[in-house]
Amino acid sequence: MFAVIRLDKALFFIVVLLILITAIFFISGSNTDLAYISASRAREHMPVLVIDPGHGGEDGGAISREGVRESVINLDIGLKMSALAGFLGFPSMMTRETEELEYPETANTVAKRKRHDQETRVELISSVENAVVISVHQNCFPSSKARGPQSFYSKGETSQRLGFFAQSCMDAAVYPENRRLSVPVADNIFLMRSIDCPAVLVECGFLSNHEESKLLGTDSYRLKIATALICAYGQFLDEDIA
Ligand SMILES: [Zn+2]
Repeated sequence: MFAVIRLDKALFFIVVLLILITAIFFISGSNTDLAYISASRAREHMPVLVIDPGHGGEDGGAISREGVRESVINLDIGLKMSALAGFLGFPSMMTRETEELEYPETANTVAKRKRHDQETRVELISSVENAVVISVHQNCFPSSKARGPQSFYSKGETSQRLGFFAQSCMDAAVYPENRRLSVPVADNIFLMRSIDCPAVLVECGFLSNHEESKLLGTDSYRLKIATALICAYGQFLDEDIA
């Protein structure tokens, strides 16, 4: 009985996933299809997607209107992205897979622990040959009116291209009327300025906006965002490797 229910759920999940992936590719105007991605995948020197769920440990990031830490939402989207990347055969890794983080004894203040975490991530990313980073965050603004996802790209034309794909895929998936554009990331983001590989930081939505915060609290919305970001990465690979 339970096995049957679980199988039904798994089939339902896979069908929904395939529909979402197809829809996002179609809506975002790419000529990419899954067969082509499979062909690209077989090529050598495939980049490694480094999924970086922002914050974690003692650093919860922003807090949603419902009291949920940004770090928890980022991690869930990151884990979904990791599962989807595995499903499509994209090599990937994560900078963290849990909410709890370990710190050395020498990191005896909150500021030192945050710094240690950021330095560890930079070290990890820098050790990966051919890394491409997507750092996942949620936005927050004093006005509750602001809404819509936005991508911020690191230096270099390759990052700019990934930023463009991330923006168009997220818009297509969750907010087609969005007028935000992908823009260069601010210099004061330690992780982004400390790495040299292609990288984007995505703010998936505003926790300060009532409607968007509620949506980000749902599993299905986070799956849409994760799917959109993996589709963006697929489009990026398609163009980068072709
Ligand atoms: Zn953040």
